[in-house]
Amino acid sequence: MEIISISTKRRIEFIDITGKIEEIVKNKNIKSGVCFLFVPHTTCGLTINENADPSVRKDIIEKLEQLVPESDVYTHSEGNADSHIKSTLTGHSLVVFIENGSLQLGTWQGIYLCEFDGPRTRQIWMKITASL
Ligand code: ZN
Repeated sequence: MEIISISTKRRIEFIDITGKIEEIVKNKNIKSGVCFLFVPHTTCGLTINENADPSVRKDIIEKLEQLVPESDVYTHSEGNADSHIKSTLTGHSLVVFIENGSLQLGTWQGIYLCEFDGPRTRQIWMKITASL
């Protein structure tokens, strides 16, 4: 398993990790396979979405803030209930196919680490399996 560390800088931000993941995949020299990504955290997540127009990321973050505001009535007393909820909305894992040694993403797709309670140092656990 590969462990990738990412230091986030804001409370909420989406960090494009496509290049990092692609580089590890290329170094494995796997022609065809599957790349699994998982974050072992309860206040961040992973998602795939547009990597061309940054306004998409901005809109997603702003809509999540409207849907699950930081200040609201929550039972969880740590002050980050919204972060836990946002993390559940994005999910904690992704699967991306590998063909001809590279990630198979749509033209406009990028892979994002979604920070919801930063700044923190986050881990992404990555496992690649080769297909026959
Ligand atoms: Zn908490």
